[in-house]
Amino acid sequence: MTTQVTWYGHAALGIETGGKFLLFDPYLTGNPVATVKPDALNPGYILISHGHGDHVGDAPDIAKRTGAMLISNFEICSWFETKHGHGSVHAQHIGGGFNYDFGRVKLIGPRVVIPIHYNTFDLLTQDAHEWARRVSSASQDKTQVVVLSPGQSFSL
Ligand SMILES: [Zn+2]
Repeated sequence: MTTQVTWYGHAALGIETGGKFLLFDPYLTGNPVATVKPDALNPGYILISHGHGDHVGDAPDIAKRTGAMLISNFEICSWFETKHGHGSVHAQHIGGGFNYDFGRVKLIGPRVVIPIHYNTFDLLTQDAHEWARRVSSASQDKTQVVVLSPGQSFSL
């Protein structure tokens, strides 16, 4: 089974796997590097890492339009139910996989990492290739770093 990961810019990701489409942190409207419009996406699930505006983004509108199940922590799921009347929520601990910082990569030892959440604004300017070299070195080349440009996909 192929899993395709598409980075839409900032922390917004689409993952297609097993005939499902999962959308992560869909901050698209107002995101200067977004490569897709919210209306072009029809996820079955929307996963939100935390409650900051650059992560919740267009999730309320997309959830309302598609009826997608919202998966996040208890507080964000409750906020969707009460503020947006969205009944399809599933609160859970979604754990690692969103904050691919250097220490965490060592801790969870993933096979593949894709850096996101950088170069959206001047404040977030980073050299992903330099970071990739550090991850490869620290993991003794056990972790593959895939540096995408917004709009690009990678198949696992
Ligand atoms: Zn953020």
